[in-house]
Amino acid sequence: MSWSLNIGRVAGTVVRIHLTFVIFLAWIFVANYAAGGLPSAWNSVAFVLLLFFCVLLHEFGHIFTARAFGVTTPYVTLLPIGGVAQLERIPEESGQEFLIAIAGPLVNVAIAGVLILLGADIMVPHAAAVEDMHISMLDRLAAVNIFLALFNLIPAFPMDGGRVLRAALASKFGYVRATEIAAHIGQFVALALGFFGLLYNPLLIFIAIFVYLAASSEAHMVALRAASRGVPVSYAMMKQFAALPPDAHLDEAVQALLQTGQGEFPVVDGVGKPVGVLGRGDLIRAIKTLGPDARVADAMSAELPTIGHRATLDQAFRLLQEKQTPAIGVTDASGRLVGIVTHETIAGMIMLQEALPKGVQIGPWSRPAGA
Ligand SMILES: [Zn+2]
Repeated sequence: MSWSLNIGRVAGTVVRIHLTFVIFLAWIFVANYAAGGLPSAWNSVAFVLLLFFCVLLHEFGHIFTARAFGVTTPYVTLLPIGGVAQLERIPEESGQEFLIAIAGPLVNVAIAGVLILLGADIMVPHAAAVEDMHISMLDRLAAVNIFLALFNLIPAFPMDGGRVLRAALASKFGYVRATEIAAHIGQFVALALGFFGLLYNPLLIFIAIFVYLAASSEAHMVALRAASRGVPVSYAMMKQFAALPPDAHLDEAVQALLQTGQGEFPVVDGVGKPVGVLGRGDLIRAIKTLGPDARVADAMSAELPTIGHRATLDQAFRLLQEKQTPAIGVTDASGRLVGIVTHETIAGMIMLQEALPKGVQIGPWSRPAGA
């Protein structure tokens, strides 16, 4: 997280650039300066900045469409490989997912259309020539927007095309089965991409590996969500954990860290109600900056999202994802903390799901059909 710089906020979404993106820009400048002098260096940096502005507009295509369905997006981050909009959640209604997914590539089509109206000639440059500064900036930008639209429509997760495909399949097969089919198609596309990469462009091999892994993780997550629907959160939450009082010293927190190996410590007041959470990272940072005598209350993050003990596991997972926190507290009727759900809970449930033979049930947990 600390590797990203906030550069502004648009309609409630914080725009961040990853430090590697800044390094990437510097590298573009230096490489082009060495090859073609100062004009070439500035020209290339300007092109990359405009290109990434188009990528940002693409992401805002997703973000504004999602907002129309009541889904907010806390962050959008620019990386050298593209933009990542962190939507609070992806709607499982296939019509909504379809529109959110397709909105991004449509933005690129629209930009290319406007540039063509302005006189861009997309027939001159081909993909290999976008680096060529003798071709006008307008032509290159139009070509690259068409490329972005097509590339994102490759029918594989995490590309937009994967979501479009799932949404199209979901109306016929249901969400879980549609995800599984879309994931298989995505893995097949990844293999083809990797093979193509072996012959023509090694960079494609990395993209292929990334796409292959993303497809299986998407299928896992969806199957997991389906399986955890209706399972009481009390079945899977961590009940044995150490909690810290807000006025404890940080050295006591370090003791607890060493003795339990726990990654996140809920902070509870005198009657057991949660008032915050102290993660391992926060603790280590606070020891460095505030010293071991500082209080837990000064180092913790003030909000531990909580959910009632009668909620279901998929509600807990959804909250964990939406709030982007390391842990969720589970409270009883009087508001006291009785359990926590963390990313380790998810990892554990995935392992259990993998291991369970079809039709076998452990507690309320079974393997859903088709997973
Ligand atoms: Zn997109």
